[in-house]
Amino acid sequence: MSRQYIDCREYPSTMNCSVALSADNDKELLEAAVQHAVAVHGHSDSPELRKQLASMFKPGTPPLTAQAKAA
Ligand SMILES: [Zn+2]
Repeated sequence: MSRQYIDCREYPSTMNCSVALSADNDKELLEAAVQHAVAVHGHSDSPELRKQLASMFKPGTPPLTAQAKAA
């Protein structure tokens, strides 16, 4: 499985989180993303949250600069 990442910068939130997480498989990435979403963004761990996070995964590694459209 190739490296994947999820980048908070692409999903502007009220706290302007700039964390990006990456891992070599989607299971590791999902666990890290869930922990981050719960600890930092105040979400509660649920099948819906996991599904939503998994849909935000992208192949590769986080870019040096944010890809958000609102920049
Ligand atoms: Zn975040």
